[in-house]
Amino acid sequence: MTSIAQLLDAPVTPACDPGLATPTWDFDALPTYGPGASVADVVPAATTNARSRPGQLPIAYQRMTNDELHARIAAAKASLGDRVVILGHYYQRDEIVAYADFVGDSFQLAGAALTRPDAEAIVFCGVHFMAETADILAREEQTVILPNLAAGCSMADMADEDSVEAAWAELAQVYRFDPDETVGPDWFERHPGGKLPVVPVTYMNSSAALKAFCGRHGGIVCTSSNARTVLEWAFARGERVLFFPDQHLGRNTAKAMGVPLAAMPMWNPRKPLGGNDAEALRDARVILWHGFCSVHKRFTTAQIAAAREAHPGVQVVVHPECPMAVVDAADAAGSTELIRQFVADAEPGSTIAIGTEINMVNRLAAQHPDKTIFCLDPVVCPCSTMYRIHPGYLAWTLESLAAGEVVNEIQVDPDVARHARTALERMLAAAPKPLTGTPSTSTTSTSSTTGGPR
Ligand code: SF4
Repeated sequence: MTSIAQLLDAPVTPACDPGLATPTWDFDALPTYGPGASVADVVPAATTNARSRPGQLPIAYQRMTNDELHARIAAAKASLGDRVVILGHYYQRDEIVAYADFVGDSFQLAGAALTRPDAEAIVFCGVHFMAETADILAREEQTVILPNLAAGCSMADMADEDSVEAAWAELAQVYRFDPDETVGPDWFERHPGGKLPVVPVTYMNSSAALKAFCGRHGGIVCTSSNARTVLEWAFARGERVLFFPDQHLGRNTAKAMGVPLAAMPMWNPRKPLGGNDAEALRDARVILWHGFCSVHKRFTTAQIAAAREAHPGVQVVVHPECPMAVVDAADAAGSTELIRQFVADAEPGSTIAIGTEINMVNRLAAQHPDKTIFCLDPVVCPCSTMYRIHPGYLAWTLESLAAGEVVNEIQVDPDVARHARTALERMLAAAPKPLTGTPSTSTTSTSSTTGGPR
């Protein structure tokens, strides 16, 4: 199978940005997310969930050949043995996934880490918010490492703590509640049948600070696989929901539950009252934050029409971070895990067009040679922030660990972690679905667990 890096090196390959073929460390100090789908998204200056410092890959690792890097990763991983667990997100490069003990989505990987409580270090090959979540759920003695600290998520950074706090204060005036009141973990038990004016719901793709905000205000976390269950939980406890940061997941989920579009106003944090009038907000059921995924917003109904014309009988499956029109035009929509299962369950000989990140699509195509599988977007465009985890960073962090030095550790403030854990545990209690991270090189299976939180 040709890796995305090899595809980008080929001069004839159409890519969304030619800069993707440039070594990732050339962009680590820039105030943007670098070349790729999210190149236009500038990292917010005061964000709490963006890069904590520029990437600092030593020059020796920048100069190594791919063969040298892979030999060193393999040697360091072997010498560390069970002391380390490596997690690889579905959207990672194949060169990284090859060394992952578990491969899955962010929620599955957080659960997978909990099955290795004896590992001293969790190396999370994903993006910043995922490593934060792993740190929140891990044992206190465990160290969580993000190989490249510049691997953020442009969607997560579209909702920063200050903007959400400001929105909350405005909503408090409209709905007449105390914005500073903390809704403790037992509030709902002490107020049976009681409803909050607004329940904050944050997507897993958000900073620990926003998960903590939800924990403090009677809110909850959701993932793309349990968003409906979580919204049902929230509607049972509140008059309406403030959903951030991804407008599309919120809209697609609520629409499927029968919430009319007119009851889903958008909240633009740059405008007073989010760009709404107070009357419209009073009738709202779901207030949608003005955020989106730069990768999934590339998918269009025109691409679906083209796929149907070129491949009669094609099945189209997309991620719910795609715009509503795309989800409506697809045959199925769901989380990365649902997409993986959709492909696995398809009959041999099927043709499937997929609307999600290209590393995952290409891997599915390689795993199912008896089916024709392709990405709806004809242009090679990986998640540019996930792509920041170049093998050089993995070699550096593993070799440092083997030498007794921890680099690029992610540590969530204990008070933030405590409240964030409240929101995560509400999600785990609300979601009947077990965590099912896919073991990669390991034969250990993951299991349903709330883990051993600190
Ligand atoms: S695919 Fe989108 S939501 Fe996921 S990490 Fe990349 S930018 Fe963030």
